[in-house]
Amino acid sequence: MGRPHVMVIPYPAQGHVLPLMSFSRYLAYQGIQITFINTEFNHNLIINSLSKSSHDDYMGDRIKLVSIPDGLEDSPEERNIPGKLSESVLSFMPTKVEELIERMISERDGPIISCIVADQSLGWAIEVAAKFGIRRAAFCPAAAATMVLGFSIQKLVDDGLIDPDGTPRVNKSIQLCPAMPKMETDKFVWVCLKNRESQRNIFQLMLQNNKSIESTDWLLCNSVYELETAAFGLSPKILPIGPIGWAHSESTSLGSFLPQDRDCLDWLDRQIPGSVVYVAFGSFGFMSKAQLEELAIGLELTKRPVLWVTGSGDQPPLKLVSDRVKLVRWAPQREVLSHRAIGCFVSHCGWNSTLEGAENGIPFLCIPYFADQFINKEYICDVWKIGLGLERDERGMVPRLEVKKKIDEIMGDDGEYKKRAMMVKEIVVKSIAKDGISHDNLRKFVKWIKS
Ligand code: UDP
Repeated sequence: MGRPHVMVIPYPAQGHVLPLMSFSRYLAYQGIQITFINTEFNHNLIINSLSKSSHDDYMGDRIKLVSIPDGLEDSPEERNIPGKLSESVLSFMPTKVEELIERMISERDGPIISCIVADQSLGWAIEVAAKFGIRRAAFCPAAAATMVLGFSIQKLVDDGLIDPDGTPRVNKSIQLCPAMPKMETDKFVWVCLKNRESQRNIFQLMLQNNKSIESTDWLLCNSVYELETAAFGLSPKILPIGPIGWAHSESTSLGSFLPQDRDCLDWLDRQIPGSVVYVAFGSFGFMSKAQLEELAIGLELTKRPVLWVTGSGDQPPLKLVSDRVKLVRWAPQREVLSHRAIGCFVSHCGWNSTLEGAENGIPFLCIPYFADQFINKEYICDVWKIGLGLERDERGMVPRLEVKKKIDEIMGDDGEYKKRAMMVKEIVVKSIAKDGISHDNLRKFVKWIKS
């Protein structure tokens, strides 16, 4: 018998592909063969972004990258419209994955698939696995609290907080149980009042996914038990294994959609420890030009060195960027956050960024925009108390003076936030060290795959 073989299927967005790639690398190190499924569009981005430098470790033939079409035109803009992508994922990808599995099974020396690990948001992939009688695991790249919110939908309807189509009936702040992050009903992950149809689709999909997940053998979550004790208490089926890929694998750009600019690490080497403000808002460009300008001026007012990732969004106005500011399109974020020069992280609070800041003991300034980012912000500011929210004014804009004031507060002399952030780091490190909960769950999962 050959090596055990796992097929990994992420939702085709950067914040999903990266953690599933980290998970795949971990499994590959344990001697497991991986077939990693990307859409053709993302596959090409990933291959074109792989750096030629020697630091990249592709894991040889242990991780095989395979692609399928996503049914969309060849334009990045189309994929940035959230409704568009999820619609095509649902109508196009399932058949393609089925065809792929059929081909693999029919090949004479083709590998036996020991397990399919599918993104929790791809319930159909779990069902495809079930149809072929393949063992299956769901992987949640978001916080356990976000999953628990999805599992609580019926109760929210029963309690009169939302309509059966997900629309909030009242605007209020709730907690699913004490010690859970507060959630605003009008900011529930599916709520999109400007586009009711899209909201209904997302909401329906969440309900379907909840059902599909019931048949999985494992429900793994890229999180840490001690950081979300209340959420894991509410849904004991969710098993924390995070932060995935931190201690297990050396740096690599495998999975990045944009090439990493590694020069910024040299620039960081030249900065004073703890002095740099790191600014990055993940893979969606959603900040308005006016907001970028306020942010740039606010940062300039702090007179601190800034490393700013522009990503696929607009650039901050260059006239406002002084020589204290290093702009990059895409950074090796995990390495950046572990660099001693970093003092704080101005973030949109995507879950990966949230965990990556937490695992490195970095205090946050939060500007959440949509989806689960509000929940993650509550964890940072209210539950773990390692950051501050940047408050918006009546125009919905974070003004320059707010930026300066909060950065000065976070990086101020008493070091309160840094101290707590270092305590959070310690908790995270313990969880992935020997005898830690994430570590144990990973071991059990690997043992099961090999059994
Ligand atoms: N990221 C990166 N380089 C950058 C900015 C982001 O490698 O310059 C990575 C980051 O480390 C994280 C992911 O992109 O793993 C973004 O995921 P997140 O959940 O934070 O945000 P999303 O893009 O899903 O909104």
